[in-house]
Formats: sequence, structure tokens, C-alpha cells
Amino acid sequence: MIEGVIEIEIMEKNEISILGAGLIGSLLSIYLKKRGCDVSVYEKRADNRKVGYKEEGRSINMALSDRGWKALEKIGMTEKVAALTIPMYGRRIHDEHGNTSFLPYGKDKQAIYSISRGKFNQLLVEEAENKGVKIFFDHKCESVDLRTNEISFTVPETGTEKIHSKVIIGSDGAYSSLRMAMQKQVRFNFRQEYISHGYKELSIPATAEGEFAMDPNALHIWPRGMFMLIALPNPDKSFTCTLFLPFEGAKVCFDKINDKRDVEGIFKNYFDDAYQLMPNLGEEFFTNPTSALINVECYPWVLKQAMLIGDASHAMVPFYGQGMNCGFEDCFILDSLIEKLGTNAWELVFAKFQKMRKPDTDAISKLAMENFVEMRDATADPKFLLRKKIEAKLHSLFPNEWIPLYTMVTFSDMPYSEAYTQGKLQEAIMDKVMANPLITQNWDKLDYEDIVNQMDAAKAV
Ligand SMILES: Cc1cc2nc3c(=O)[nH]c(=O)nc-3n(C[C@H](O)[C@H](O)[C@H](O)COP(=O)(O)OP(=O)(O)OC[C@H]3O[C@@H](n4cnc5c(N)ncnc54)[C@H](O)[C@@H]3O)c2cc1C
Repeated sequence: MIEGVIEIEIMEKNEISILGAGLIGSLLSIYLKKRGCDVSVYEKRADNRKVGYKEEGRSINMALSDRGWKALEKIGMTEKVAALTIPMYGRRIHDEHGNTSFLPYGKDKQAIYSISRGKFNQLLVEEAENKGVKIFFDHKCESVDLRTNEISFTVPETGTEKIHSKVIIGSDGAYSSLRMAMQKQVRFNFRQEYISHGYKELSIPATAEGEFAMDPNALHIWPRGMFMLIALPNPDKSFTCTLFLPFEGAKVCFDKINDKRDVEGIFKNYFDDAYQLMPNLGEEFFTNPTSALINVECYPWVLKQAMLIGDASHAMVPFYGQGMNCGFEDCFILDSLIEKLGTNAWELVFAKFQKMRKPDTDAISKLAMENFVEMRDATADPKFLLRKKIEAKLHSLFPNEWIPLYTMVTFSDMPYSEAYTQGKLQEAIMDKVMANPLITQNWDKLDYEDIVNQMDAAKAV
């Protein structure tokens, strides 16, 4: 043994090692433990229950929707998680003059739920430990030898540790170490793309009276063409805001903001109503990091008894609010396969999982990219709002025949790939409807049955 290297041999009994105790890794560990597996999770960060939550520039609240809830329900966590959430029933769109309009996400009571990433992660880690999962913090995976299933970690106290594990699951995010090991194998497809925009966290505190400064039951958006600001509510009555700007090359971009005066100038000009509620803007802008947004596609996700899941296999841009929900659905689907095939057939379970899941994660990744344009641009367009109104009416008249794309993605568990195909057919029909020059005046008198019949005909082709 080399000096400073501790080698811990994990025996057959301890069969599953999960890399990464983020949202997906900790949820998955609970699922696997419930199936009777011996599960160890290795996380590079320190235990944030002891050292507090450090964000490293990633969004600190998330929108949880139906697919995520379904995965939580299966392991009995609905109530515990619900206690941390705030429902958002629609988008509240802020124009440049401070006027707002409300665009419901779905029918009455349909909502997506704002939740703090840090608190959510802590709750899942806590639950996993209570169920008997072993979690090793401060264990950064440096490499995985896929021929021998040997994993090497850097550990602050001991230097390097090595383990062997029968099954390895990489839920270590967009820059996955397991994926890097797989990339060294032959015929591994990999594509990553950084988009032109980055993001920065900002905040709107509670008012002096300790109240929310804006409507708490909405996701607030300030769409401004090539850039936008959004805000999600927190239980302490503050809002977490995310500013999305191009990195460079535009009139308003991160590269051109050099001091507090620049920031304040932009906010006064484009987001004045938000600016009035942001006393710490100048300071936060220069303290909080500017982070990049990446889309990652790869295949296969599996090499024998090693597999990627969550962002490690399909990191997507955040504009459909589905990355975590999709990763939770991954866990749900994997568990359904284990339920059928048992815990002694990992290669078969993993092979079936990737084959089944890949078309769906490709579909939601594409939709997430397309929704960026909708959020920052189209939501400011009255024609877009009218289009949504017509689609909502179609859905209320023909609830099974016409389901808006957002509803299929967010409020159902229809496979993402089916939602994508159906959404594209509806989009083509709506393009024709919206091309009518009198649509603004006549939208209520349209022949809605005929529109739905067009959809039925398109589906039949
Ligand atoms: C700005 C923004 C907003 C978003 N909003 C939403 C939203 O509203 N709704 C939604 O559903 N999704 C949203 N997402 C996506 C969501 O954050 C991700 O899809 C989700 O966090 C993926 O979880 P994960 O566990 O796969 O990866 P991660 O959350 O990245 O977790 C990976 C874990 O692995 C650990 N790790 C990394 N490398 C190693 C290593 N070498 N060794 C050991 N441990 C390691 C990390 O420390 C981390 O704990 C958003 C993303 C961004 C960037």
C-alpha cells in the first residue's frame, strides 16, 4: 500500500455505491434502501447540516411539479416536503412600466411549488440516514476504474481512499466523475453546450412589516427580450431572484457591468419595480458568482454494473423547471424496473432503464432550450398571452383532446417524448389559428370543435 493511501475494501454485502448526495442521489438512496439494498453515498461537499448551506452560485429555490411529487409520494415523503413549499399558481409578468398581468399555469389549484434547494437536500439526506443509508461527506470521487469497479476519493482527513463496489451509480451532477470514466471507453457519445447566457442570484427581502413584497403565490417574470429576471417566493417571506443575461456581445450583458452604478442603471431602466424592492442589489451583484448554463447529452448511460442518473446523464438548461423533476422521475422509473426484475439483475435493469428513458430526457432537454425563448421574449408579447388563453379555452372545452404542452410536461406524467410530439402538432395548428388577422377581436367566437378535429386528424397521420 502506498503511504497516505487508505484502501477500504467494500465487501459483496455492501453492494451499491452512489456518487453525489445531491437531490437525485439522496432520493435514489432512499428508494434503493427500501428495496433492501445496502447503500453507501459519497459526497464531495461537507455535511451542510453541520457547516450551513453554501450555494456555489446555483439556484437556491426550485419549482417542484407533478413528476417530482409522484416520486416523493412513492416513498411516503409528500407531507414532509409539502411543509417546505409555497404554491405558485401562475406567472406574474412585469412589464417595463411596472404593470403586471397574471398567466395561470393550469386550471384552478394547479400549481408548481417553490422550495429551497438547500433545505430540500437536507431533508432528503436526513431521511436517507434515518432509513439506514450510509453517507460519507467530504469524499470527492477522483476516478473510477470501470474494469475493476474501484473508486478513488480525496478525503481531507486521510488523503486518498479507495473502495470497490459491485454496483456504482453516478448522480454527481453535470460534471460527473463517473461519466468522465465512461468517456474513456470506446463508443461513448457525449455532447455538451454552454448557452450564451449565464445567471446570477439576487434577492428581494421581506418588507419592514415582515410581509412578502409581492404576490407570493406566483413565479414573477420580467421578460426583456434578450434577457430576463425571475423571482420565486421563500417561506421567510423573501424572494430569490435569478437574473439571466448574455455573458457578452449585447447591449445588456455581464461583461459590461463593472460597478454598482452600472447595475443600478440597468435595474432602474429595465426592472424598476423590482429595483425598488432590492436594497442589497449592488452588494449582492458583486458578491454572488455569475454561473454558466450547460446542456449535456450522452449515451450510453450504462457500462455493466455502473450507471449515470439525473444531471450526470442529462443536464438541461433550467427554463422548463424540470431538471430535478426529471431526475426524480428517473428514480421512480428505475425503482419500477427493480420492482419487476429484482435486485440481482442490475445489468438488465440498467439496460432497460437507459433504453426506455433516453427518448424522454432528450425531449425535455429540447423543450427546456426552446422555453428559454418563450420566457425571456414571448411572455412580453400580447399575442402570446392570447394564444395561451385560446389554448386554455380549448383545454376546458375538450380536456382530453387538447392539453397545453406546459400542462402535459408539468401537471402529468405522460412520457416527455409523447408530450413533445403532441405539443408540436398543437403548435402547428395554433400557428394557423394565430395567423388570422382578426384573431384579437374574434378569438372567443372561433370554431373550437374544428380546431380539435384538426388535431385529431393530425394525430391520425
Ligand atoms: C439556475 C437553475 C435553476 C433550476 N431550477 C430548477 C427548477 O425550478 N426545477 C427543477 O426541476 N430543476 C431545476 N434546476 C435543475 C436542477 O437543479 C438539477 O436538475 C438537479 O439539481 C440535478 O440533481 P443531481 O442530484 O442530478 O445533480 P446536482 O444537484 O448537481 O448534485 C450532484 C451532487 O454530487 C456532488 N458531486 C459532484 N461531483 C462529485 C464528485 N466528484 N464526488 C462526489 N460528489 C460529487 C455535488 O456536490 C452534489 O451534491 C435548475 C438548475 C439551475 C442551474
